[in-house]
Amino acid sequence: MADKLSPQTEEAVRARISYFRDLGVFDFYHREGSIPSEIPIAPVAVTEEESAAAPAAYVDLEPTSSMPRKSALPVIAESLVPTVAINPNDRAAALEAIRSDIGNCTRCTLHKGRNKIVFADGDPNARLMFVGEGPGADEDAQGLPFVGRAGQLLNNMIHAMGLRRDQVYIANIVKCRPPQNRVPEPVEANTCAPFLFRQIDVIKPEVIVALGATAATYLLGGKSPLAALRGRIHQARGTKLIVTYHPAYLLRDPRQKKEAWADLQLAMAELGLKAPAK
Ligand code: URA
Repeated sequence: MADKLSPQTEEAVRARISYFRDLGVFDFYHREGSIPSEIPIAPVAVTEEESAAAPAAYVDLEPTSSMPRKSALPVIAESLVPTVAINPNDRAAALEAIRSDIGNCTRCTLHKGRNKIVFADGDPNARLMFVGEGPGADEDAQGLPFVGRAGQLLNNMIHAMGLRRDQVYIANIVKCRPPQNRVPEPVEANTCAPFLFRQIDVIKPEVIVALGATAATYLLGGKSPLAALRGRIHQARGTKLIVTYHPAYLLRDPRQKKEAWADLQLAMAELGLKAPAK
């Protein structure tokens, strides 16, 4: 029988498990003979070497004054997708559990400027999910995604598809508002995205629409020009992913709405949806 763990070791194991859960890793297997008799678990935060070995890929560059380190590459959305689907009746509770794991988050510096964490909005059993970049001022004030001007346009896009907002699920790459609505830093997005990946794994939508370059980058695990990503079906966490323009961009350049509508029609075809008659 195994010896009882010392309180320090137990605490260190708990911290390690919590770290992996944040990355979206839930199952651990003991492979016979693979673990040395002395497990070198120190009761300290994860080191750079450990994070380099972690399943979600981080690349650490030079530290900045405001952040302890930078992750230059996106965490890989495709890694460690659970194969077991959550029963539709349990999805709301499973999402609540993720929200509760986030807690009053201080994992990255974005927490310093936020009013409310913007977890998500919509149906836990949605067939279609939209992912944006991060909350703006209205979202930060209300704690809900896409409730400002860009949100109104997103609502119109959803209605044009023949759906209501409460039939889809809407979330962002980061859950706290970046200062001056800047693009989230890689370290911020990489810290937050594992929670989004868990939300996707619970909902298991049939189609995800990535709104803009930031969503596409972190869902696809790499940076490409938006134009090169549009018009075809990708995969993210075992789900079909379609990339389109961010509604805020469409507000600035409404001529691109036609292109965005073509992207939404691609999503509709996958979902077997027909546009409502005008
Ligand atoms: N822009 C986003 O990317 N997300 C929001 O929730 C609002 C605006």
